[in-house]
Amino acid sequence: MKGPLAPELYDVARPCESWWRETAAPGPALAPLEGDATVDVAVIGGGYAGLSTALRLAELGVSCAVLEAGEIGWGASGRNGGIVGLASDKLSHAARARRVGEAEAARAVAAQVEGAQRLRAFCAAQGVETQGEAEALVAHCPAAFAALADAPAVGGASLEILSREAYAERGYEGPEQHGAALMRPGFGVHPLQLVRAWARAAQAAGVAIHPFSEALRWRREGAAHRVETARGTLRAGRIVLATNGFTPDGLHPAFAARAMPVISMIGVTRPLTAEELSRHRWREDNPLANTRRMLFYWRMLPQRRLLFGMRGDLTGAEAAAPVWRARLAASLARAFPGWADIPLTHFWRGPICATRAYAPAVGRLPDDASVFHAFGWHGSGVNGAQTAGRLLAEAIVSGEEAAIPALWRGLPPRILLPGLRTLWLAGAIAGFRLADAMEARTPLRDRRARASVAAATR
Ligand SMILES: Cc1cc2nc3c(=O)[nH]c(=O)nc-3n(C[C@H](O)[C@H](O)[C@H](O)COP(=O)(O)OP(=O)(O)OC[C@H]3O[C@@H](n4cnc5c(N)ncnc54)[C@H](O)[C@@H]3O)c2cc1C
Repeated sequence: MKGPLAPELYDVARPCESWWRETAAPGPALAPLEGDATVDVAVIGGGYAGLSTALRLAELGVSCAVLEAGEIGWGASGRNGGIVGLASDKLSHAARARRVGEAEAARAVAAQVEGAQRLRAFCAAQGVETQGEAEALVAHCPAAFAALADAPAVGGASLEILSREAYAERGYEGPEQHGAALMRPGFGVHPLQLVRAWARAAQAAGVAIHPFSEALRWRREGAAHRVETARGTLRAGRIVLATNGFTPDGLHPAFAARAMPVISMIGVTRPLTAEELSRHRWREDNPLANTRRMLFYWRMLPQRRLLFGMRGDLTGAEAAAPVWRARLAASLARAFPGWADIPLTHFWRGPICATRAYAPAVGRLPDDASVFHAFGWHGSGVNGAQTAGRLLAEAIVSGEEAAIPALWRGLPPRILLPGLRTLWLAGAIAGFRLADAMEARTPLRDRRARASVAAATR
């Protein structure tokens, strides 16, 4: 596989050596595509989006096959923070409402609320490990807390606002804890167990799932599509592209330069002792993120290991890993000085997928009603990708896209001069950083604009 990031990031022969990989039970036995096969719908991408689309299609009686370049969950779905929250984009609630109107903005949140509830039920039924009953959004500075306190709860989301003192009693204490909002529904999940559970459920429903079967070429053959892998050919009447941060520029012209992969990185510490936990009066079971635009996210795993994540480097180059591991450790120490001496035992990276619309891209191509897509979760796809997969499958069968929230529908604008993608990203990151720094320095300024941290923004 190829893409705009460092070549080693696309090496599907190398699984991501994460805490999750060390602790997940093996997935179902699956084989690469060999020879010729024909299905109604071919899905490219074996993460949450592709597998949930395929499962729902199979439940609706549509024959379906999934092609995945690596092992199942090799992409972001097997290596993320496992935080199930209500965000689906990188927009403030006000910006969502300006784009699609208040009712549709609330519908996008409502879809995520229903998605989180369904996901919880799916995890319970499949024996996937979950943790907590909310996502805690922690104000990293006083101005951010003022915005949290102003945030409207929409779309059936519930928002419990706790002052710094009140949250210290429930959650933890630290220099970057200035109060919190507990957003429900939300929880933590073992992400690799989850994607393997999707694969197991889809396989049981009759989906043919092929790992190590990268779609190398895709072309029209009359009314049908023909997708070639190294050892086989899949013919299908309809195709779903669910490749998110790995979306190839060259596979289909409609998707070239639509996706902006952005590296996120995660470190996991050794287990903390009771004394170490008490240094921050830690008692929080829910997963957390803070209110920075360049946010940190973290969870205390059931094994009392702290999982801490944040935006990473621009390319994911292997040579830069030690530097970025040290930067992550420094950020962890800034947020939790009492844990500055706790070593990381695991560190890994992967791409999330941003778009120029700052929102997901779900639906069918305007000029080819047999080509569908689902990508662009902006780092919030544990819930979003699976919710969208279900809605997309239903849209494929009904021929109606109306059930997909308007905010998510359609393709985002192309990235201008895509060869300069890394430069644009560097510029955007610098802008977000500056905005974060200004907010931290000017407490309580511009409360209205920051009320953007609405019920569903993480
Ligand atoms: C480090 C990190 C932390 C994150 N933390 C969180 C979190 O805590 N909460 C949250 O909500 N979200 C989080 N995310 C984002 C979340 O993981 C993703 O939004 C979600 O997994 C996307 O699922 P997907 O199925 O769309 O994409 P993916 O899981 O990336 O699947 C796409 C798949 O397509 C395959 N593919 C690409 N090209 C081809 C081809 N030509 N042929 C066949 N297969 C192909 C890839 O191999 C890949 O496996 C995080 C992401 C990362 C990287």
